[in-house]
Amino acid sequence: MDLPLIMVIATRNSGKTDEIRALLRDFPIEIRNLDDFGPIPEVVEDGTTFEENAYKKASFTARVLGVPALADDSGLVVPALNGAPGVHSARYAGPDATDAERCAKLLKAMEKLNDRRAAFECVISIAVPGGAALTYESRCEGEITRAPHGTNGFGYDPVFRYPPLGRTFAELTRDEKGTVSHRGKALNEVRKEFDKIRIWIRQQMPTIPRSGCASAS
Ligand code: IMP
Repeated sequence: MDLPLIMVIATRNSGKTDEIRALLRDFPIEIRNLDDFGPIPEVVEDGTTFEENAYKKASFTARVLGVPALADDSGLVVPALNGAPGVHSARYAGPDATDAERCAKLLKAMEKLNDRRAAFECVISIAVPGGAALTYESRCEGEITRAPHGTNGFGYDPVFRYPPLGRTFAELTRDEKGTVSHRGKALNEVRKEFDKIRIWIRQQMPTIPRSGCASAS
């Protein structure tokens, strides 16, 4: 019989782990996160694309821990700002800034701009210790408001308006946001493909030879 597969989510964020665990609850897989293991070095997220950073996190974690790993990288892309904040979304207003300060900096940068288009993008990478990986990506298109609205969510949610629902992400419930968001849609792709992903992981993982302890007759 197959042993249950272990997959580590390359994050220390328990909210993110719970979200992924809930989505994959129907599959025979044990989800762990970095807190279930001893200290491991931080990955430097210095890639120039979301895909590069997601792959870096997933492949590094899989290699160091010896188990398949899933990592995501996401951010906000604004065409009128030449793609900023992009891969620098988390550090847009400096390493110690708050979400409110990042939103304020974005609104200031866009003060005189009429092109308010923006998109959240998310890339999920699932890697095995040997380095091979699968990639899933999704985006959610919207526009940047003139002022923050709403208190739910995190990051740029209060300034990102999702036109089909006429509200910012910070005015949506968690479930409403999960159905339409970049991360929700990318995770849903993973869920839909998960039977194939499990087969792929089993094929990629090194097999441990059975010890020769059969008794002589
Ligand atoms: P990470 O991929 O979780 O590291 O997210 C990168 C940064 O992008 C976050 O710190 C947020 O500033 C921004 N971001 C990513 N996803 C969202 C979202 O769903 N809402 C608001 N901001 C987000």
